[in-house]
Amino acid sequence: MEDFEQLVSSLTPREENDEIKLYQNTVSVACPVCEEPFDDLVACKKTETSLEQIEPLDICVTVHEGSPLLFTHKH
Ligand SMILES: [Zn+2]
Repeated sequence: MEDFEQLVSSLTPREENDEIKLYQNTVSVACPVCEEPFDDLVACKKTETSLEQIEPLDICVTVHEGSPLLFTHKH
């Protein structure tokens, strides 16, 4: 993905820990994978991360500079 910084600048940071940084998409930015607006972006800081999923989600995944990016879509 080319415009990661630009994408993230449109999003609202919600949570950060050692493994992930969570951004909320409050302005209906289109997912770069499926081009539908996504709900949250989870930027993984490590190449391996376990995520606990609390609700059913569709997830699009891409990689930016070796770090997985997960775009979540609620049903
Ligand atoms: Zn998507």
